Amino acid sequence: MINKATINGKEVPVSSGLTILDAAKVLQLEIPTLCHADHLQPEGGCRMCLVQCEGKDRPVASCHTEIEPGMVIRTHTPEIESLRRTILTLYEGSGEMTGFTEGSVMSGRFRDLMETYRLWNGESEPGEPTPTDESHPYLRFQADACITCRLCLNVCEQVQGQFVFGIENRGPHSRLVFGAGDEFAESPCVACGACIDVCPTGALFDVDRMTIVEEAKHTETVCGYCGVGCRLDVVSEKNRVRRIDPVRDAAVNRGHLCVKGRYAHAWHHSEDRLTTPLIREGGSLREASWEEALQYITDRLNQIREKFGPDSLGAFTSSRSTNEACYLLQKLFRSVIQTNNVDCCARVCHSSTALALQLVTGTGAASASYTDFEKAGCIVVAGANPTEAHPVAGARIKQAALNGVPLIVIDPRRIELAEYADAHLQLLPGTNVALFNGMAKVLIEENLANLEYARERTEGLEELVEFLERVSLTEVSLITGVAEDEIVFAARLIAKHAPALFVHGLGLSELMQGTASVMTLCNLGMLTGSIGKPGAGMLPLRGQNNVQGSADMGSMPTHFTGYQPVDDPDVRALFQEYWGELPPTKPGLTSTLMLQEAAKGNQIKGLWLMGEDVVQSDPNQTEVVRALENLDLIIVQDLFISETAKYAHVVLPACGFLEQEGTFTNGERRIQHVRPAVEAPGESRPDWVVVCQVAELMGRSWNYDSPADVMEEIAKVAPNLFGGVRYDRLAPDGLQWPCPTSSHPGTSTVHEERFLRGKGKLVAVDYEASPEHGVEGFDYLLVTGRLLEHYNVGTMTRRTPQQDLIDRDELEINPIDAANEGIREGETVSLGSRWGEIDVPVRLSTRIAPGTLFLTFHYPESNTNRLTGPTLDPQSKCPQFKATAVRISTKGSLIHD
Ligand code: SF4
Repeated sequence: MINKATINGKEVPVSSGLTILDAAKVLQLEIPTLCHADHLQPEGGCRMCLVQCEGKDRPVASCHTEIEPGMVIRTHTPEIESLRRTILTLYEGSGEMTGFTEGSVMSGRFRDLMETYRLWNGESEPGEPTPTDESHPYLRFQADACITCRLCLNVCEQVQGQFVFGIENRGPHSRLVFGAGDEFAESPCVACGACIDVCPTGALFDVDRMTIVEEAKHTETVCGYCGVGCRLDVVSEKNRVRRIDPVRDAAVNRGHLCVKGRYAHAWHHSEDRLTTPLIREGGSLREASWEEALQYITDRLNQIREKFGPDSLGAFTSSRSTNEACYLLQKLFRSVIQTNNVDCCARVCHSSTALALQLVTGTGAASASYTDFEKAGCIVVAGANPTEAHPVAGARIKQAALNGVPLIVIDPRRIELAEYADAHLQLLPGTNVALFNGMAKVLIEENLANLEYARERTEGLEELVEFLERVSLTEVSLITGVAEDEIVFAARLIAKHAPALFVHGLGLSELMQGTASVMTLCNLGMLTGSIGKPGAGMLPLRGQNNVQGSADMGSMPTHFTGYQPVDDPDVRALFQEYWGELPPTKPGLTSTLMLQEAAKGNQIKGLWLMGEDVVQSDPNQTEVVRALENLDLIIVQDLFISETAKYAHVVLPACGFLEQEGTFTNGERRIQHVRPAVEAPGESRPDWVVVCQVAELMGRSWNYDSPADVMEEIAKVAPNLFGGVRYDRLAPDGLQWPCPTSSHPGTSTVHEERFLRGKGKLVAVDYEASPEHGVEGFDYLLVTGRLLEHYNVGTMTRRTPQQDLIDRDELEINPIDAANEGIREGETVSLGSRWGEIDVPVRLSTRIAPGTLFLTFHYPESNTNRLTGPTLDPQSKCPQFKATAVRISTKGSLIHD
């Protein structure tokens, strides 16, 4: 049987699904195209890729014609070349296409082809180009260069799922339109930039492409915003970032980025970057040399330790910094200072998730990977808003739903994904446990559970079944506000399409019942036989770029690097071997408890805050400020004078993610190499270097030459998870832990054969209302969260043109509530909880149900966390950000009314 074809006289192997265009690429033959991109479905519209096939009457479009055995193909016959010239001429003369006039932005493939086919001599013609759409802070469009090839439509639909573009009119009068309007700014565009990447004429371009880069330096690195961990190609020149492109074949982002990763880089050269160390003197911060600042830190740490003991000091590592920096700071505190008071921002986000997963599966991280979005039979998104907070992951979930994968969204807000979902369970904030128990009951009662899996691979089934007998769906419906039939429908849908992928976020974790929420979601995962299978399992979307890594590195008061308990003698002996000092046994305090102790004037006297802006990001801001005011020593490493740095005794200028080397670990446990693209301004130093310098002043010679040396030590102290991780193994796409040996390829799906704890644990845990539920006089429940345009406390994004997209926090309120309260769109209201009060402008939105409010915390002016209270999950000590009892006043201050 012939399994080869011939192109231009060269043989090429034929396989199912291979197009002629693909096969030509195998032979490194270039067939011109205009409307084609390899990562999109063939459009077959421009006809530039026509080729001649022996035996066929007419030329065929190579982009969508499958190559067949025995085919004899010619790609550049005189007839075909003449056709191509004609096509280009038609494009050039059509409609508004006057792209060769002076001032036109025409560039790219089309212009090259016009020159190749000698249809243009490089000279611009006199004339007026169409005006450029400059309505958007980043994106531009010049209609005269557009050939309506539809590539922008296709990439927008097939990758981002946003449906921004349309083609109006037909034939020579066809033109590109943006949603219902004519301008980018009015369109639903999310500025992912994918259309810019594929536009073959340059009609669509962005501000970063308007600068001519002559000495381009390309640096492959990893995005420093969210925990998706997209790979970036940073183009820089003269120490300025000129442009950021996605790495086309990156495992994580597959050539895609979101608006933050692509465009929000101006923070790097912001005028208010810290450039020298600062020391507090006489109530204000003054410039200091590094020598003075490091000596000051060392002396103060020693003095406080001597006076109050090692447990009077604590450290918060940074989830924006590298694994190596986090590892070294916890090492400094454990080995040199001798306290386990080390924690990170995972405490105030996914600590409940990590604890729950640790307890029921044996490891506090995702069992699944991002590749499972495309393999999933069913996706459940619970308490996460991926299209805004994890946009590249969100786009992939949206694509899965658009391709027919059943999607269930569980969220108090009607988030964007709910529009694509088969079911949206819009529960009352903080009632996840009741809902998941109700769904588990349906699985058991209707005999929909995978009992074979549950009996073989888990424990606790009998207790759970017995407990669920006492759960009443009617009561669940009353607690959650979700109708009984919706609960039943969702449970049946998951069972029908199991194994399912459970994507979850802070809407589960940041609650008094955060750990219980995640454990009861895991019940659904285990009852449907979903954990440990490809295309399925538990996939918490991690918030900050390296929040997974900072916890992995041992930024936990109860666990050393690699989640090894601090009180295990063998583990301590292992650390002593590599650290030369025996770390303490007594578990330390969590970050939340350290701040509470400081606020009371008790145990904690000094804190090292690596990149943590606790004043803006932690709950109960009044208490946080009280804590900081009580401290004898606050060391802050940051890029800017953050709200927290205003209280610091010493502030050290840090390097951002574009400016330092190390590794980040994303939400699918993937450790990736981060490289510096530009130099940090002034005297800024990488976090890991600063920690080593303090260790040296404290009499230790750690002798690391580079972050790679630090990773070698990490591999040794936590061999089960990181034993095979070395820098020379990280190209191109990093390694997913567990990676125990130097030949191990990393792990995409965890718990495949068995759970890391042996058997998975099913838990019977009842719903419990938090102290924020049913508070008299506080009729609303406030949920806080993020928007696409900004990241967390906005330290970086607020110093970029993201400001022009969103420039303030707004309170989302349902129009029914607004009418009842007599509130108008845009009006500023007073919002009060039992912990504080703020003034905030209002936006009317049906995304939020009556009785619930939503507010972001990107702007220090809003002081959103003045409202959130002291309630913690008793197990994880994670604060309850996601349900705070509040009241509204339109008549000014609530406190004095
Ligand atoms: Fe960066 Fe996250 Fe956006 Fe990717 S999805 S570009 S990691 S912010």
